[in-house]
Amino acid sequence: DHKAAIIDGKAIAQTIRSEIASEVRHLSQKYGKVTLSFPLSRVPGLAVVIVGNRKDSQSYVGMKRKACAEVGIKSFDVDLPEQVAEAELIGKVHELNANPDVHGILVQLPLPKHINEEKVLSEIRIEKDVDGFHPLNIGKLAMKGRDPLFLPCTPKGCLELLSRSGISIKGKKAVVVGRSNIVGLPVSLLLLKADATVTMVHSHTPDPESIIRESDIIIAAAGQAKMIKGSWIKPGAAVIDVGTNAIDDPSKKSGYRLVGDVDYQEACKVAGWITPVPGGVGPMTVAMLLKNTLDGAKRGIQMVRFT
Ligand code: NDP
Repeated sequence: DHKAAIIDGKAIAQTIRSEIASEVRHLSQKYGKVTLSFPLSRVPGLAVVIVGNRKDSQSYVGMKRKACAEVGIKSFDVDLPEQVAEAELIGKVHELNANPDVHGILVQLPLPKHINEEKVLSEIRIEKDVDGFHPLNIGKLAMKGRDPLFLPCTPKGCLELLSRSGISIKGKKAVVVGRSNIVGLPVSLLLLKADATVTMVHSHTPDPESIIRESDIIIAAAGQAKMIKGSWIKPGAAVIDVGTNAIDDPSKKSGYRLVGDVDYQEACKVAGWITPVPGGVGPMTVAMLLKNTLDGAKRGIQMVRFT
């Protein structure tokens, strides 16, 4: 019986987090004793801004702040009430833009309805845009020969899972199911930059099954529980399941459990590689956020000439 290789995102993310922790220590050792006539932070700093008290957002933000502490990144917590005025939120972003101890700024989405998300995200200095959602960073990602300062975390995590599993992308046929600004679109652009031939499937695509069946790499990010059946998968394909869907499960204390967009049991019998849900892409997202923050801090420090 064929059994796909399981891509253990939790373990890979843990490895990356220890790599980051040792680099963070190294940064302060290397530059800690240098005296300068102006302030320069040697400790990478990440500002995590949350507006309101959505349960899911609070739990994501909590995870991100805790992950920072574990690798030695200083986290700057900004908690604003649901009713905060857009101008006040933008004022906060400007403050963080100007703070030399802050190398990354993350505004947790979604924002309350009265706030224009596009406007707020555009105010983040692109040098601190660790979520990679600034239109200039996305634009550079879409253009040939241009490199964004930061890649969005979940898409970057998907590619990291492929590369750390020894799966090559160049020349492969890839399909991305979903086209959101956060996952589907940027992951398609990344695969294209990595020389795959990319097809995007969305809610208006007729016969997604036949497109998926031809693909060597499948990135599922539709938010539809078990939408992709085992019979849709090309034997040996690499399956990265971003979908995180809660379905009823009376056998659990919580009453629900999380499943991906791919029917995992079926897919395991056909695919070459597969990520589980949970424990696949999810942990990578946070690890990539830490990596982006470290890279931002290193870039900031390298701009200073130590003579
Ligand atoms: P969105 O709801 O923003 O986007 C979903 C996309 O899937 C849309 O482009 C939509 O098409 C498409 N889609 C929906 N139904 C179908 C269908 N039946 N067939 C084909 N395409 C379909 O979701 P997100 O991109 O934000 O998230 C996607 C999933 O990934 C969710 O389950 C989310 O929880 C998970 N996620 C996980 C993360 C992680 O770290 N593990 C991080 C972010 C998200 P259209 O554009 O036409 O509407």
